[in-house]
Amino acid sequence: MSSIVVISSRGEQRVRAGHPWIYRSDVVDVRAEGGEIVQVLGPRRRMVGCALFSDRSQISLRMLTRGDTPAGLPLLRARIENAIAFREALGLDATAYRLVHGEADLLPSLIVDQYGDHLVVQALSQGMDRLLPAIATMLVEIAAPAGILARNDPKVRALEGLEQTVEVLHGIVPESVIAREGPIEYAVDLRKGQKTGLFLDQRENKEAAARYAHGRLLDAFSYTGGFALRLARQCAHAEAIDISADAVGLIRANAERNGVPHLEAREANVFDELRRLERAGVRYDTIVLDPPAFAKNKASLSNARAGYKEINLRAMRLLTPAGYLVTCSCSYHVSEEMFGEMLHEASVDSHVPVSVVEKRTQGRDHPVLVGVPETHYLKCFILRRVE
Ligand code: SAH
Repeated sequence: MSSIVVISSRGEQRVRAGHPWIYRSDVVDVRAEGGEIVQVLGPRRRMVGCALFSDRSQISLRMLTRGDTPAGLPLLRARIENAIAFREALGLDATAYRLVHGEADLLPSLIVDQYGDHLVVQALSQGMDRLLPAIATMLVEIAAPAGILARNDPKVRALEGLEQTVEVLHGIVPESVIAREGPIEYAVDLRKGQKTGLFLDQRENKEAAARYAHGRLLDAFSYTGGFALRLARQCAHAEAIDISADAVGLIRANAERNGVPHLEAREANVFDELRRLERAGVRYDTIVLDPPAFAKNKASLSNARAGYKEINLRAMRLLTPAGYLVTCSCSYHVSEEMFGEMLHEASVDSHVPVSVVEKRTQGRDHPVLVGVPETHYLKCFILRRVE
């Protein structure tokens, strides 16, 4: 007998509308253990589909199939192959990119990133965690990586009652690997770096920014130099700032590796530094703002908005006329519309008229699934100071 979870009619409607998540409040009856693949039934015991079940998270069910279609390892394998084939078809000029982007690849709560010959995986629900050994075996068969690392240390795993661990699942994973994006090489620490090592979702935004960057560059919230390294070569002067001393050390090492010795990296709090630079009368032709997610949940939205507005307003004041501001938010809770309104207010308050040159999102290897707004998290606007 397979395990069963019965949901309310509201839950059933949500599935019909195309969303893969069912919240605990829409679960009516459970005859299953956490981590199992279950059959989901509607209130009148009609089969809704198959899902991953979690007994701890607010997200109780993550749908894998709809109607009578069964879910099992062959289906997961086909979806992984499909996801990888899509990335291959993109013909990305990079050795590091996302192979599996969870919900958007119909593999909810599974992340697989490729860094050259190595793969980094994350299982972010009880169900995916249980399937991970089988998935690692499939990845070895499909992609023949030299090593697979499980970066199962994101905090969201705690919401699932799962341990935070980092472990090698296959082969050998060196302490540092080299990832290339276009002309730039980054040294990456897969075990300790943020996310799975790099912010792979910004690759195409760095390329886009390279269409405009010139003169004096400031890359704020630089991490290991993502934007700064890509843009420095076409800028007469380049500065990168980050609050983390480790990150600043890596920017310097990466600058040397890529032959951009004029990139100056320093450890600073961007909020303080923007104020100091304004007082000092320093001005920039190109500024990048790529802060961490200020809004981690809905409750922190109003503080987050104030934070975004503060840095954008100050950056606008630091721009020379005809200068460019590349400004990002990776908070899913800050919608593109909200982000646009915040930029409008920052422009009004700073008395700096700006036009929108490009409105962008995460790279194509991080697709957005229509009907699932949670898969659209990154906003990147390229603005130009009009005068
Ligand atoms: N642009 C980067 C990613 C930035 S991630 C890339 O493309 O690779 C955000 C970074 O902001 C992190 O490295 C974090 O250390 C840094 N950070 C967070 N708060 C900060 C602050 N107040 N001032 C400066 N840096 C900060």
